[in-house]
Amino acid sequence: MENKRILITGAAGFIGSHLCDKFLSEGYEVIGMDNLITGDLRNIEHLFPMKEFMFYHHDVSKFVHIPGKLDFILHFASPASPIDYLKWPIQTLKVGSLGTHNLLGLALAKKARILVASTSEVYGDPLVHPQKEDYWGNVNPVGPRGVYDEAKRFQEAMTMAYHNAHQVDTRIVRIFNTYGPRMRLNDGRVLPNFFYQALTGKDLTVYGDGSQTRSFCYVEDLVEGIYRLLLSDYVNPVNLGNPDEITISQFAEEIIKLTNTKQKVVYEPLPKDDPKQRQPDITLAKKLLNWEPKIGRSEGLKITYEYFKKALNVK
Ligand code: NAD
Ligand code: UDP
Repeated sequence: MENKRILITGAAGFIGSHLCDKFLSEGYEVIGMDNLITGDLRNIEHLFPMKEFMFYHHDVSKFVHIPGKLDFILHFASPASPIDYLKWPIQTLKVGSLGTHNLLGLALAKKARILVASTSEVYGDPLVHPQKEDYWGNVNPVGPRGVYDEAKRFQEAMTMAYHNAHQVDTRIVRIFNTYGPRMRLNDGRVLPNFFYQALTGKDLTVYGDGSQTRSFCYVEDLVEGIYRLLLSDYVNPVNLGNPDEITISQFAEEIIKLTNTKQKVVYEPLPKDDPKQRQPDITLAKKLLNWEPKIGRSEGLKITYEYFKKALNVK
């Protein structure tokens, strides 16, 4: 039987590269696409010798052309860390809007099923806790995070419109904070920041008073959830994440303990509109996909620590 063919945008990024690995290991032919704005070819260089893998260096906010058949599309291209989308606000808005439009058009033309990567940021600074899919969110459209949050909200609206108007087979995943190997050490997110600081003799920077919470999911768990969602028949948004919630202060202490660093915590101003709390309600994913995270934070952090040590050449 012929292999299924899948296009993965954002393939050279953190999550995209793990998705390439997953779908190749499941016997798919994978076409990776990326413009490398925040990605790194080293994340996928091990795939280049494979005949089932092909890579296009392309900006998906411009017309996307793929010769031949396509069965599936995973749209993961977008700057994703607050530092990145503050640096590239217009590109972030374009990839969530124009990029999504192009890929929905491609899905329609190829009769392919498309899954788009949305985010817990559609809930903004949430007034409902934990966050369930039927919560509409609390987003400041003109604040610094608005470029990302509103691009993703537009992406969801456009995806549903293509589903309803053109019967395109669509899926929407709302991803909560995910971590693991291949995160960029300087992407500004809390976990790479803390590891970088601990490994290079700098104090750990906690923003605000550190009482804000996040819930961290190991990338392998997320990828399994995405795989199951793509193959399910559920069209409305689904949360994927690990509900194990922790304050950022506690998180800093965990990294200090794990790395055995002599560094301490220093406090810096809280960025504008920084969500105070975040925890996914994953009741729907559990029921629908028979999925829940399997890798706890202590295990996931150890694996990630080894990766960052190697990246920084630390023994
Ligand atoms: P990342 O920055 O590592 O990967 C994003 C990739 O998309 C990069 O390789 C980048 O070069 C590429 N890209 C950006 N704009 C592009 C464009 N116009 N054309 C082609 N390629 C483009 O980030 P990530 O953490 O892997 O995030 C991947 C996706 O998952 C994003 O859509 C993000 O919004 C979503 N997401 C991630 C998280 C998380 O915790 N990591 C949480 C919620 C949602
Ligand atoms: N944060 C921090 N120190 C850092 C980087 C981030 O205290 O060096 C905080 C940030 O203010 C936020 C949380 O950690 O409250 C998670 O930030 P991140 O940028 O990882 O992602 P977010 O969940 O805000 O999108």
